[in-house]
Amino acid sequence: DGVIWLDGELVPWRDARVHVLTHTLHYGMGVFEGVRAYETAEDGTCIFRLQEHTDRLFRSAHIMRMKLPYDKAALNEAQKCVVRENNLHESYLRPMAFYGSEGMGLRADNLRVHVMVAAWNWPSYMSPEARDMGIKVRTSSYTRHHVNISMCKAKANGHYINSLLALQEALDSGCEEALLLDNEGYVAEGSGENVFVVRDGVIYTPELTSCLDGITRNTIFALASECGYPVREKRITRDEVYVADEVFFTGTAAEVLPIRELDGRMIGEGKRGPITTELQGLYFDAVKGRLPQ
Ligand code: PLP
Repeated sequence: DGVIWLDGELVPWRDARVHVLTHTLHYGMGVFEGVRAYETAEDGTCIFRLQEHTDRLFRSAHIMRMKLPYDKAALNEAQKCVVRENNLHESYLRPMAFYGSEGMGLRADNLRVHVMVAAWNWPSYMSPEARDMGIKVRTSSYTRHHVNISMCKAKANGHYINSLLALQEALDSGCEEALLLDNEGYVAEGSGENVFVVRDGVIYTPELTSCLDGITRNTIFALASECGYPVREKRITRDEVYVADEVFFTGTAAEVLPIRELDGRMIGEGKRGPITTELQGLYFDAVKGRLPQ
């Protein structure tokens, strides 16, 4: 049920289809976003950091040399329209740009670029229990190789193969998420989350050479600095995570998610730590419009 915005028109959900020869389906070259709308205290439903997500979608397209046939204002409006027309309150939005089916082969410069925005109710990525108690994570045997393909600034479909494999590997071994390392063995990020490590009141996170330039990550920088916690970007080793006081993931879907165990090692007290709790609370205040934006 509901409608999807496809190439400038609102289309019934079941009619928003693509052809089997869709180029992006074959070769994975496309760009997308994950965005969330929240019910806010004052303004009704509000899309959190909409402009930042739209800006990143355009940067991703630029890196991938994909020319989007709409401007930023039109895509902002499309996202608001999909939330409004579907009467959604707490929801997840998926804007995506992909190549059409006019031609096969690797050459993509002559293909139509389609753009769609879908949205649906998705109150929580993890269970409320996971949000409160933390999750078990496994270091993945798959690596992030952002530097080689300079992808930290791009959220592109093709980058998610390792994420999918890593997540499945983690789930198969009884964990809830995966932690991917970079080519050199330093901590990179989760399958779809940035990672933060807390030690002696200082918050550390990997530099933007091996992880996506996350919008939640940037929000955490701002919230932590308001609370007076120093945040440092640095290379982090796997054993630094094992001996951290607290560790948490951040992402539009996962929000702020405590990690209580990595590779069978309990982290800190084995439950959500005080700084994670504080930042998580502030994050929910921010998305719900209870803090100045
Ligand atoms: N890292 C990866 C690989 C992601 O897919 C995401 C989700 O978009 C993130 C990190 C977190 O980014 P953001 O906070 O912008 O959602």
